[in-house]
Amino acid sequence: NAFHDLLTGLANRSFFLECLDQAHSHTKRQPDYTFAVLFLDLDRFKLINDSLGHTAGDQLLTTVARRLEACLRPTDRAARLGGDEFTVLLEDIHSLSGAVHVAERIQAQLKSPFFVNGQEIFTSASIGIALSTTDYDQPEELLRDADTAMYRAKALGKARYAIFDPEMHTQAVELLQLETELCQAIAKQELQVHYQPIVCLATGQITGFEALVRWQHPNRGLLYPADFLPTAAETSLGLTIDRWVLAQACSQIQAWQVHFPHTPPLSISINLSSLQFGQPDLIEYIDQVLQETGLAAESLKLELTETALLENSVVITSTLSKLRDLKIQLSVDDFGTGYSSLGRLQNFAIDVLKIDRSFVSRMDRESSTPASAPIVETIVTLAHNLGLAIVAEGVETAAQLTQLQQLNCEYGQGFFFARALDSMAAEMLMTSVSQGQTPWQLPTLIQTN
Ligand code: C2E
Ligand code: CA
Ligand code: CA
Repeated sequence: NAFHDLLTGLANRSFFLECLDQAHSHTKRQPDYTFAVLFLDLDRFKLINDSLGHTAGDQLLTTVARRLEACLRPTDRAARLGGDEFTVLLEDIHSLSGAVHVAERIQAQLKSPFFVNGQEIFTSASIGIALSTTDYDQPEELLRDADTAMYRAKALGKARYAIFDPEMHTQAVELLQLETELCQAIAKQELQVHYQPIVCLATGQITGFEALVRWQHPNRGLLYPADFLPTAAETSLGLTIDRWVLAQACSQIQAWQVHFPHTPPLSISINLSSLQFGQPDLIEYIDQVLQETGLAAESLKLELTETALLENSVVITSTLSKLRDLKIQLSVDDFGTGYSSLGRLQNFAIDVLKIDRSFVSRMDRESSTPASAPIVETIVTLAHNLGLAIVAEGVETAAQLTQLQQLNCEYGQGFFFARALDSMAAEMLMTSVSQGQTPWQLPTLIQTN
């Protein structure tokens, strides 16, 4: 028991480190002896654990351990370090390609479905590879570097392997610094919510805003989500940020609804990560925010990407029906970039489709291949048949706007109207609208019938 992980029967951390130590001494004595360490982390394990329960999580880990063993030679050693982290020591391999080969074999093994609690679930793993050929003083450094490479594999989109190179170490240190700074950013009030108007294309009226998070970094200036959300998503910070944005934006829109009365009242659209949707207390949290801010549930729209929706359909279906009961609306973000069919989307209680910017931006370019205008037209028609409203993202030109109007697309959002604005600028915009000034000129529609 002192050497083994009780759940899976694989080696435990201390035994693994001992084996690593021996392999390391071996290389010191016999320099042409090479070994490799694989660091393996399951993708989305937390989601499975949180939604299906710990017993199911344990079953999954045990099955993964068996499949892992099936990929190894008798001389190799697999271990579970804890949680969903596994390591493999590959003794006496002759080249990097030997280690890569094993990583690929493991990934292929994990591809077939797992049956847990009578349910079929899919998982994948991100794998980092470190080779003993780098000059290491301490065997633990190999483990650290394989771990770093594993993080790279995750960042590159998961379900893949990455091979360690020293540049990764430098970047890992920078990443750690970003994470530390981000941790304090909320407390130091460096995060901000910016608001991008969503406009009714027939009238030019602002119907609501999308909340987009920004970080006013003390040295690096204004940072955009792409600069820090991926890092945040690696830790619980992602969840914290999303919840902070939700509370902040709900309270802001409630205040604007009072100042700038509209029929229907201004709505607020909030982006939520798929991990957030898997949180068991999400509904409770949203309900609490609505009560504290006094915002009507009908004014809140949650945005979820289509990939996130389909990836976790088991978990999400129950969350969605609870949201529906509360009368909160749901938008599918970046629509058209995933692989879903509208037919499958029908299974979810969805209210709005947001057509991805990549289609809208190519609409007015005749030379673009493939031509995107017919794609947009198809999405609009199908969405209308399903009773869904459409928001076109990334409207930048009057020509795009005209085309969207002709297709009867209801709403638009994009730089043609406004960028995401801080609270003050958004207020100035609404003030000028309420004083009868039109901030943007809608193109005059040529009647075609
Ligand atoms: P998104 O949800 O697709 O948001 C729209 C993005 O497109 C925003 O980028 C917006 O500034 C940009 N955009 C809007 N109109 C135009 C246009 O006409 N042209 C171009 N080129 N871009 C336009 P941003 O603010 O950098 O946000 C990027 C992504 O980060 C968002 O994509 C969203 O997925 C994510 N995000 C932003 N805030 C949050 C948040 O609070 N929580 C979560 N989970 N994700 C967030
Ligand atoms: Ca969005
Ligand atoms: Ca989007």
